[in-house]
Amino acid sequence: MKAAFFKEHGGAEKIVYDDYRDPVPEAGEAVVRVRACALNHVDMLLLDGRFPPPEGLPHVNGCEVTGTVEAVGAGVKGLERGGRVIVFPGFSCGRCEYCLRGARTVCVRYGYLGAHKDGGYAELVKAPATNILPLPDGLSFESGAAVPLAMVTSWHALVAQAECRPGQTVLVQAAGSGVGSAAIQIARLCGARVITTVGSDDKIDFARALGAEHVVNYRTQDFVEETKRWTGKRGVDIVIEHIGGETLERSVYALTRLGTLVTIGSHDTHWGRLDLRHVYSKNLRILGTNLGSILELQTILEHLVDGRLKPVIDRAFALREARAAVQHVLDRKNKGKVLLVPS
Ligand SMILES: [Zn+2]
Repeated sequence: MKAAFFKEHGGAEKIVYDDYRDPVPEAGEAVVRVRACALNHVDMLLLDGRFPPPEGLPHVNGCEVTGTVEAVGAGVKGLERGGRVIVFPGFSCGRCEYCLRGARTVCVRYGYLGAHKDGGYAELVKAPATNILPLPDGLSFESGAAVPLAMVTSWHALVAQAECRPGQTVLVQAAGSGVGSAAIQIARLCGARVITTVGSDDKIDFARALGAEHVVNYRTQDFVEETKRWTGKRGVDIVIEHIGGETLERSVYALTRLGTLVTIGSHDTHWGRLDLRHVYSKNLRILGTNLGSILELQTILEHLVDGRLKPVIDRAFALREARAAVQHVLDRKNKGKVLLVPS
């Protein structure tokens, strides 16, 4: 098959579009012919070596995949060749202490499609059959590929972890990102009011259209001051943070008493500093979360079919143009998800 992979770490120039080993389904696995695969920020960390692929190089990125069933391994039932499917990107063992507790995202053997295994920047990809769900008829391959990582992570952060409620205020960092554009919509669906940040003025209307009430350009405005102003000096109930560093530190100052910050990524840096006085004197909650459950993905798909949530797609590139797609994301030119589709 053809794939867009990398043999050494670096920037977009390291992506090679060429022949790559065909995935072979083992027992309990299925191979999917990729019809759309979305890019994520974690792809960039895998590419540049900040999060080196655990199984080494060469490696194929791509966590969010829709397609059709191409082949199944021994013992797989319920997947028809040619059936339209979406792949849930989190792998878990189902047997460790945390899986048995129902907390599969902290499985001791947890892995991601496209990180711990080769992903969807390819014509074919394989995954455990239990991770493969039907893609509802009302959803295109492109729409489906925009949700399994970013939207599930934002959903789990806001609904399950922060317990977002009607009337609350939420600060969403980086409206233009996949998780940001999802979090704005999900917070609105919960009945909360949203303030968000963007890095350029051309993303302001985009953020408003998603449901944000107040949009701050973090390059020209102070988001903490703007949050305080917007909330009448009170601060917000919830922050969804995925940048790290100073953004994490300052996001804590934007919280009101008893507020919750959920960290779901570290797109700029893995490190962050906290002024602990704010954390203990205001009784803040700082929570970490990653991905969510297959049930949450199914719930999101229902909301998408009914139009209560919408996939936010910036544009699609042909698989052979994967290098340009990666550069587009690295340059932060995207408003929402960037996709790869068959060449
Ligand atoms: Zn486990």
